[in-house]
Amino acid sequence: MQQMKKPKKPLIFYYCIGLLIMFVLNAVVFPQYIRGQIEEVDYGTFLTMLEEKNVSMAQMEKDYIYFADNNEEEPSYYSTVAFNDPELVDRLKASGCKFGKVKEKETSVFSTVFSIILQVAVFVLIGQLLSRILMKRMGSGMGNAMSFGKSNAKIYVASETGIKFTDVAGEDEAKEQLQEIVDFLHNPEKYQEIGAVMPKGALLVGPPGTGKTLLAKAVAGEAEVPFFSISGSEFVEMFVGMGAAKVRDLFKQANDKAPCIVFIDEIDTIGKKRDSGGVGGNDEREQTLNQLLTEMDGFDGSKGVVILAATNRPETLDPALLRPGRFDRRVPVELPDLAGREDILKVHAKKVKLGDSIDFNAIARAAAGTSGAELANIINEAALRAVRSGRAYVVQEDLEESIEVVLAGYQKKNAILSDKEKLIVSYHEIGHALVAALQTNSAPVTKITIIPRTSGALGYTMQVEERDQHLMNQEELENKIATYAGGRAAEELIFGSVTTGASNDIEQMTKLARAMITRYGMSDEFGMMALETVNNQYMGGDTSLACAAETAAAVDEKVKVLLKTQYKKAMELLQGQKQKLHELAKYLYEKETITGEEFMKILQESAEDR
Ligand code: ADP
Ligand code: MG
Ligand code: ZN
Repeated sequence: MQQMKKPKKPLIFYYCIGLLIMFVLNAVVFPQYIRGQIEEVDYGTFLTMLEEKNVSMAQMEKDYIYFADNNEEEPSYYSTVAFNDPELVDRLKASGCKFGKVKEKETSVFSTVFSIILQVAVFVLIGQLLSRILMKRMGSGMGNAMSFGKSNAKIYVASETGIKFTDVAGEDEAKEQLQEIVDFLHNPEKYQEIGAVMPKGALLVGPPGTGKTLLAKAVAGEAEVPFFSISGSEFVEMFVGMGAAKVRDLFKQANDKAPCIVFIDEIDTIGKKRDSGGVGGNDEREQTLNQLLTEMDGFDGSKGVVILAATNRPETLDPALLRPGRFDRRVPVELPDLAGREDILKVHAKKVKLGDSIDFNAIARAAAGTSGAELANIINEAALRAVRSGRAYVVQEDLEESIEVVLAGYQKKNAILSDKEKLIVSYHEIGHALVAALQTNSAPVTKITIIPRTSGALGYTMQVEERDQHLMNQEELENKIATYAGGRAAEELIFGSVTTGASNDIEQMTKLARAMITRYGMSDEFGMMALETVNNQYMGGDTSLACAAETAAAVDEKVKVLLKTQYKKAMELLQGQKQKLHELAKYLYEKETITGEEFMKILQESAEDR
């Protein structure tokens, strides 16, 4: 959402303005002798001028004497009477000039009062300005002590965001559900006639970068009603009770503006489960959550206040938030499928200049498992790469390379592998690729490279599924584990020693093997017993054991056996094709990057030779 914000001026700017105003007022409204404006001369000069009868008038004030020459009436010089000159009066008399004490300027009552009022006004103005600036700077911290419990939810009106549902690609189910809410806000009678009540709240859940915030903005763009947008973290306050006050204020504003939409992004920051007992519970957060629950119950759904919220950690939310009458509609915003990825690429590709014959489908297939945000990033990286290579448009190759950039990091230009290392990496990668190719039911290899990446990978083998896979059977999973093992197996087979290069493979294959046993029910011993629960479905997916310690030990044993079996399988496959392994590794070593076709060609050639 574009909200024009004036650039912040430094604090000193306001100080200067204040000072300037005071200065001008002092000079204009209360003209006094500003010594800087008239010339200072020393006392001796004054006496000389006096003796020469050049002084036309003189005025005395404490240690100063102001005087003028050339018959002027206003003083244009001043001098300090450095010592008490007892003859001063006599000298003045002798020179025949007019003299007296400093004239009081027209001090009418009016001007005195006026001056006081003005000065006070200036002070108040500066004070207010400063306090406002300070409050802005301190954000939700101390500053809010002055505006207790004001929610600073931004209000957006339809025309302002400019984002429409068409800007969100894929996610059709989510769009459909939100469309209904928009429709309700536009013609509530249609729903009321039949007696349907809109859900009070809808919760967008899904992994990061899938477009939850974007969808909410699109709702704001489509619904021609006020849209309050606030992030959960903005409720988190320094003082107890303040977050709750903010919630109250937000809902008060929303009620006044109904029909309207309230969007709370990252609601997990305030909506975490309230835990019973335990010392030092987060009072402030709980109060805020309680207030939110109360407010959601409090308002009348038919009035047309719809609450949207987004989170990527739905499992941490307090169950009270999810019960009917609150966020009773749950809108999943999952990672896009193949068609979705293609659409998202196309939406973002509109923003860049493209060459002819771009195959978005191929890019979408290669970018399996990426989120919308990553896809947007792929397009941008491709455009940057096009500029770097001096082209005015993006070509297929830019897109292909940028997938790797986004998934694996930039090519590490200055990472110099020794020849020996390069050779080991070549065998390692070909090991993966060969094992994958020699098994049935594993995704075809599309690219193998041994160019190091900034992510730390020294090389990698890219496999691309023909289509999205929603189900995997036990054999496919085992093949996948064997493919992971292929790298290390090749190293051992050829060099007789192993390297650290397989650390990531080890991590991945262990995760997979463990999941097969504890979550997918793919072991004879435990059968369909759930042994682990996923804590963070969308954020890394870490798990915690849900079984006795002995069972855990038995699980570890099972995982070990499974991994060993698959490693052995990979080893045997490679042993059977040792000749091809050498041939392909040599080829990769020389070319550094080879395509899936090149790989398959060599593999099949040598097969025919036999
Ligand atoms: P989330 O809130 O789910 O973490 P965002 O809505 O902030 O993700 O998405 C980040 C960016 O990714 C968006 O601004 C948009 O450029 C891009 N993006 C994500 N999903 C989509 C989508 N379905 N269609 C188009 N662009 C998307
Ligand atoms: Mg977001
Ligand atoms: Zn590997």
